Amino acid sequence: MSQHKVHVEFPGRIVFVGFGSIGQGVLPLILRHIGTQAERITIVSADERGADVAVHFGVRFIKQAVTAENLRGLLEPLLSSGDFLINVSVDVSSCALIEFCHERGALYLDTCIEPWPGGYTDKSIPAARRTNYALRETALALRQGRENGPTAVLTHGANPGMVSHFVKQAMLNIAADTGVAAGNPQSRADWAALAHTLGIKVIHVAERDTQVSPVRKRPGEFVNTWSVDGFVSEGSQPCELGWGSHERHFPADGHRYDFGRGSSIYLSQPGAATKVRTWTPKAGHFHAFAITHGESISIADYLTVKSGDQVLYRPTAHYAYHPCDDAVLSVHELTGRNFVMQSEQRILMNEISSGGIDELGVLLAGHARNAYWYGSQLSIDEARTLCPFNNATSLQVTVAVLSGVIWAMENPRQGIVEPDEMDFRRNLEICMPYLGPVVGEYTDWNPLTDRERLFPEDLDRSDPWQFKNIRVR
Ligand code: NAD
Repeated sequence: MSQHKVHVEFPGRIVFVGFGSIGQGVLPLILRHIGTQAERITIVSADERGADVAVHFGVRFIKQAVTAENLRGLLEPLLSSGDFLINVSVDVSSCALIEFCHERGALYLDTCIEPWPGGYTDKSIPAARRTNYALRETALALRQGRENGPTAVLTHGANPGMVSHFVKQAMLNIAADTGVAAGNPQSRADWAALAHTLGIKVIHVAERDTQVSPVRKRPGEFVNTWSVDGFVSEGSQPCELGWGSHERHFPADGHRYDFGRGSSIYLSQPGAATKVRTWTPKAGHFHAFAITHGESISIADYLTVKSGDQVLYRPTAHYAYHPCDDAVLSVHELTGRNFVMQSEQRILMNEISSGGIDELGVLLAGHARNAYWYGSQLSIDEARTLCPFNNATSLQVTVAVLSGVIWAMENPRQGIVEPDEMDFRRNLEICMPYLGPVVGEYTDWNPLTDRERLFPEDLDRSDPWQFKNIRVR
C-alpha cells in the first residue's frame, strides 16, 4: 500500500507530449497521487531522453516529434473524450494542441504557451508578435465558442503557474499584517481591489538558484537546471513586463502593443540581455535577468482595476531570475556570441552537489510594510528525498504540474483557464508537501539601497519602486 495520498481517480488515458526534465519529474508524481495505471499512460517525445525512465515505470514511449503535419495522425489514436494531454515539450504549438484536445473532448495542461519552431526568434515576425503577450492573446482568443469545453490549463508550472497562487497567499498575509480587512476575495475584481487597497506597486517573481555541479561549465557549453532549449528560447524573446499604473518613466526602448489588452509592454532587447535588481530572503539583493514569462503578463492583467477604459491601478510585474551560476556563465557566453546557441547542452540532475537551493517566490513591494517575499526554499537534498528524477528546480515545477492536472480533473468543464483563475488554495494544498520550507519575509531593502556608492546615477528618489530604479543600466 502506497503511503502517498491519491487526490483523484482518473479512468481516462494520459498522454505526455515531451519527456525532458519536467516530464520525467512529473511522471512519478502522477503515478503517486492520481488514481491511474502505467498502462494507461503514453509518452510521445522527439528524442530518446527519458526512455529509460518510461521503462522504469512501465510506461509506453513513442519516439516521434509532433509537427503541424503529423499531429492528428499521431495523437488521434491516443486521445479521445475523457483523456488528458500533458504538454511538457518545446517546439510544439500549444494552441494547435488546445484546439485538437477540444475537438477530441480531452483535458489539457501546459507549462508555457509554446509556438511551432522559430516562433520565438524568427526576425521576419515583428518583435511584438514574438512575445508571450502575443502568444497569450492568441491562446485566450481560442476561448470563443469553447467556454464550457473540456478544461485546458494554460502555463501551469512553477512560474508561470504556482507563483500566481503565491501572489494571492502573499496578499492575504500582507493584509493580515497591516490591518487591512481582506475579506474572502473570490473574483478577479476582488483580488485586483485588494492589491489596489494594499498599494502593491511591484510584483517580482524573484528567483535565486544556487545549485551547482562539480563538473563546471566548459566553453561552448550551455548548462542549466531545466530545459536549455526552453531557457534560450524565452531568453531570446523581447523582455516583457506588466506595466504598472505608478510608473512615471516610460523606457526609451519600451513599446506598447497596438493589439490586445494593453496591460504590458516590451523592450526592444532580449530578456537575457536585460538585468533588474531584486531580493530574496537567503540571497539578499542581487542582479537578475528580466526574462519574459507568462505570469508577468497574466498577473498584471488580472490585478488591473479599471473605470471604463481608464486604468486606475495595475502593478508592474516581471520575472527576476538568477539561474544557477553555470547558467549565468552560459547566458554571458550566449549573449557574447550574439545569441548563437552553444553546440553542447547539459541539464544538471544527478551530478548536482549537496547544499544548493532554488529560492523561488514572489516579492510584493510598495505597500505599507515596504516589501514582502513569499515562496519556496527547496534544497537539492530535500528534493532528492521527496521525489526521484527531480532536482530542486524541476520539483517546484513538476508538483505544480501535478496540482494543475488534478485541479483540471476535478473541474473538467472550465474551458481555457489561466493559473490566476484557478483555486489557489487547492493548488497550494497539493504543492506544499513538495516545496521544502515555504516562508514569508519582510525586508526594508528597496532598489535605491546602497546606490551611488561609486558614481552618480539617474534615479527617481521620490519613489524607489519605479522600474527606472529597478532596471540595471
Ligand atoms: P527539455 O528540453 O528537458 O525537454 C523538452 C522535451 O520536448 C524533450 O523530451 C524533447 O524530446 C521534446 N520535444 C521537442 N520537440 C518536440 C516535438 N516536436 N514533439 C514532441 N516532443 C518534442 O524541457 P523541460 O525542462 O522538460 O521543459 C519542458 C517545457 O516546460 C518547456 O516548454 C519549458 O519552457 C517549460 N517549463 C516551464 C516551467 C514553468 O515553471 N512554467 C519550468 C520549466 C520548464
